[in-house]
Amino acid sequence: MWYNVGMKILLTGGTGYIGSHTAVELVAAGYKEIVIFDNLSNSKELVMAKIAEISGIEPEFVEGDILDKVALKGLFKKHKFDAVMHFAGLKAVGESVEKPLQYYETNVGGTVNLLEAMRVAGCKKIIFSSSATVYGEHAEVPYSEDAPTGQGITNPYGETKHVIEEILKDVAESESGWQVVILRYFNPVGNHPSGLIGEDPNGIPNNLMPIVMKVARGEMAELLIFGDDYDTPDGSGVRDFIHVVDLAKGHVAALEKLSGLAADDSAILIYNLGTGGGRSVFEVIATYEKHAGKKLPRRVVDRRLGDIGEVYAGVEKAARELGWKTELDLDDAMRDTLKFLG
Ligand code: NAD
Ligand code: UDP
Repeated sequence: MWYNVGMKILLTGGTGYIGSHTAVELVAAGYKEIVIFDNLSNSKELVMAKIAEISGIEPEFVEGDILDKVALKGLFKKHKFDAVMHFAGLKAVGESVEKPLQYYETNVGGTVNLLEAMRVAGCKKIIFSSSATVYGEHAEVPYSEDAPTGQGITNPYGETKHVIEEILKDVAESESGWQVVILRYFNPVGNHPSGLIGEDPNGIPNNLMPIVMKVARGEMAELLIFGDDYDTPDGSGVRDFIHVVDLAKGHVAALEKLSGLAADDSAILIYNLGTGGGRSVFEVIATYEKHAGKKLPRRVVDRRLGDIGEVYAGVEKAARELGWKTELDLDDAMRDTLKFLG
């Protein structure tokens, strides 16, 4: 199959964890016309040089905010983008409970601004970073893309992802030619095997692996394990941990799916990006410790409010329609995490 590698692609939030890995995989797949737009609220400009070191190409970087309509307009005036990958947004679940308005403004408002700038510029292909959180707490594993969404979401962050999905569906139906891919990520872990880029959030993280890394660096005293009384094989929570390099390759596959559509076809395509299997929190810790050769200080505490026992993806649709599946496992992710830790 021939792909249009000459496409010019905008990555909002492209200096962040998933966006930076996707930039590397895009270059590896032959896409060299990449522009990154990021306000650096949760990433560093230094990432651009790292992307260049790994891939041999430094994408153009524009510092800017998706809440700044004028900046977005200028961006789309300067560049004729063929497609957008929209990673920019706020993602800390706990913070979203304390600052819901900031989350709705940035995630929902920022996406509306981006879509309007795209509409005006006539750029109608978008790949959006959604999350397994849209399934809410009533879905059954493995989660299927057809399962209902939006019910029983337990925090404003998850609500923003659900609302954005609904907005994207409405936009795709509003005018011919909109081609939308919604990617529902499960639990991204690991980093590039070079150890040059990885998850490096500002502030206090709430996801498991960034906390493991902080404990490993001695920046946090211990890892709190949120519950060992779930109805799971070892009692700890089970999640679908996907290596971020596999996840990044899922975006290339989604882009190639879009470039195969006729220009005036409208489409709204939804895919889970996960491994298709669950691993427990205890297994993650044990795998990390095996590779690190030392124990992590940890303590089991009560379940975290809003958490559910077991989450993993149904992955047949992505395999069938994108020709994509994961190739890396938890051992790879932990080995790469240790390289990034240095
Ligand atoms: P990240 O924080 O590393 O990357 C997001 C980037 O967006 C950052 O570089 C940040 O500086 C930028 N950004 C934030 N607000 C912005 C704004 N107003 N204007 C411009 N740039 C802005 O996060 P990530 O883990 O790479 O996540 C990328 C996307 O994937 C997010 O939308 C997130 O909600 C979604 N997602 C992440 C996970 C996960 O576990 N990491 C899971 C599901 C979905
Ligand atoms: N978790 C934990 N301690 C932490 C952070 C997370 O035990 O400090 C557990 C959490 O309860 C869940 C799993 O790790 O079972 C993944 O949590 P994370 O916040 O990374 O992702 P999500 O809950 O969104 O799937």
